[in-house]
Amino acid sequence: MLAGMAHLLIVEDDELLRDALSAQLKLAGHTVTPAADGVQAQALLEGTRCDAVILDLGLPKVNGMEVLRWIRQRLAALPVLILTARDGVDDRVQGLNAGADDYLTKPFNMAELQARLQSMLRRSRLPAFGGTLELPTNSLGRLRLDAKLPLAWLGDEPLELTQREWMLLSLLVANAGQVVSREDVLAAWQGEPGESSAAGSNALEVYIHRLRRKLADTELNIRNVRGLGYMLEPATP
Ligand code: CA
Repeated sequence: MLAGMAHLLIVEDDELLRDALSAQLKLAGHTVTPAADGVQAQALLEGTRCDAVILDLGLPKVNGMEVLRWIRQRLAALPVLILTARDGVDDRVQGLNAGADDYLTKPFNMAELQARLQSMLRRSRLPAFGGTLELPTNSLGRLRLDAKLPLAWLGDEPLELTQREWMLLSLLVANAGQVVSREDVLAAWQGEPGESSAAGSNALEVYIHRLRRKLADTELNIRNVRGLGYMLEPATP
């Protein structure tokens, strides 16, 4: 099987969208099994080995959130991308807390779905994100990272992070007190959809700036180590 190919379960009650998704993902080389409701999805998951699930949250019979919890109880490591109808933070946070690996808000762009899916599949195949490895939850003061979800919290508040922010923060936390070089970050980003190294290098400053703002209320500081890179360290009181 080619690296990017996978067996996907698509759970979507909207027939037009389900068919469009199936056609596009088959065209991309994936094997696709469609399901029209939660009960069908559960039956298929019990009898079929899938690499990832695309799961609509608004489903008849058994809703998507229940299917997601059901999946997490049985297939802890199965990557799940949820489709949420509203742009509500509630739905996304609830979904991510229930163990979704990523989400897309409808209406979404097919290219973005494919990019997210590839990224999710790639992560699930990395040993560090594989379900068989029990990763510790990383904590630094009020900041807590769970690499399995992946999700970060400040105290009890989920920290909204993009995929690249997440990767950057993970690197910094894993190497707290040590310098993380620009090259390390760019290497971790490499392979992210639409990322060229030149753009990545410029974007890094922007992402560092964003993370600093998101960590502003914590006791953590991202120090710019001139010529070397960045270091996460305790903010001097
Ligand atoms: Ca629906």
